[in-house]
Amino acid sequence: MASNKNLLMLPGDGIGPEVCGEVRKVLDWMDKRRAVTFDVKEDLVGGAAYDAHGVSVRDDTVEDAKNADAVLFGAVGGPQYDSLPWDVRPEAGLLRLRKDLDLFANLRPAVTFDALLDASTLKPEVIQGLDIMIVRELTAGVYFGEPRGMQTLPDGTERCIDTQSYTKAEIERVADVAFDLARKRGKKVTSAEKANVMKTGVFWRETVAEVHKKGGYDDIELGNMYADNCAMQLVRNPKQFDVIVCDNLFGDILSDVAAMLTGSLGMLPSASLGAVDETGRRKALYEPVHGSAPDIAGQGMANPFAMLLSFAMCLRYSFDLQEDADLIEQAAQAVLSQGVRTGDIMTPGCEQVSTREMGDRLIAELDKRAA
Ligand code: NAD
Repeated sequence: MASNKNLLMLPGDGIGPEVCGEVRKVLDWMDKRRAVTFDVKEDLVGGAAYDAHGVSVRDDTVEDAKNADAVLFGAVGGPQYDSLPWDVRPEAGLLRLRKDLDLFANLRPAVTFDALLDASTLKPEVIQGLDIMIVRELTAGVYFGEPRGMQTLPDGTERCIDTQSYTKAEIERVADVAFDLARKRGKKVTSAEKANVMKTGVFWRETVAEVHKKGGYDDIELGNMYADNCAMQLVRNPKQFDVIVCDNLFGDILSDVAAMLTGSLGMLPSASLGAVDETGRRKALYEPVHGSAPDIAGQGMANPFAMLLSFAMCLRYSFDLQEDADLIEQAAQAVLSQGVRTGDIMTPGCEQVSTREMGDRLIAELDKRAA
């Protein structure tokens, strides 16, 4: 059954347009082979928007993002924009989108691919079969809390303040996302905070427990862990986790630790989700973890998998197309296990291919699976 879904694609700068081009191929494939049709609107963001319009994201683009079922975002930035004023810098466009769409839950999966086990610094047996999800609160906490900044005390002492601040609602909504996700996965949530030394840590722990109890999540196991221990456990025995939920600061750190368990930046997808609106739709933006990689841009060297896997997340979380998301992930596994590699994940004995060739191989694998 055909059903049109509304996507806004913002390829951005550097390798962004190259990796988004490979998603286009999958969109065409889904249209032809799976009878799933997307209405795709494309627009400029980041440096590309600045070059054309003098701003890093236009108001109209933000409106389109709000109205879309999901946003696919490539990457922004480049050395030519580094000296621009902050408010028109490419990164400001992404931050505005996150803020205006109120994308409060950042999802970063860490999944290992058997063919790439050697890319990790950890022993293969520690990470083989790893599949965890970090849910990071993205729009509050110490990165946004007031007061912040430098002060000079009456005796002339200089000091600097950042404020960790959370309202109950800010914790509740991200906890809900974590429990909902766990229900579709391993049914286990670990909440990481510093309840031993921070008042906000105690509040976080109590609020997550309350959501667990009152939110009808009896089928989900909830555990608590101090964030520093969680960092250690991620490296010692990461497979003990299913979903980890944490605040903005701890999430920033723990998601980078988890990401590196899998080895390669070119393989890491992410999603940022907002609240469910009155029509039952959740605002969402899907993007690779990597940046615009100016050092390899325009050379057909980019690994498109982080973007393609972000699209798979989009299918799963925005459109509930589990089977199609599984197909893409399985096809990616298959291509890698045939020894096909882009330069960033290349190892001796494998076949090195371009960005486009990698996309073509994925499509060939999808063809086989959908036959
Ligand atoms: P980066 O992620 O762009 O690149 C880091 C290194 O990883 C580079 O050597 C790059 O070639 C490589 N790499 C990254 N993605 C790859 C891929 N898909 N395939 C193969 N190799 C890949 O980070 P950076 O160099 O620190 O930043 C470059 C620019 O990107 C900067 O302007 C930065 O501000 C911006 N940036 C944007 C985002 C975003 O748009 N969300 C995120 C991070 C950095």
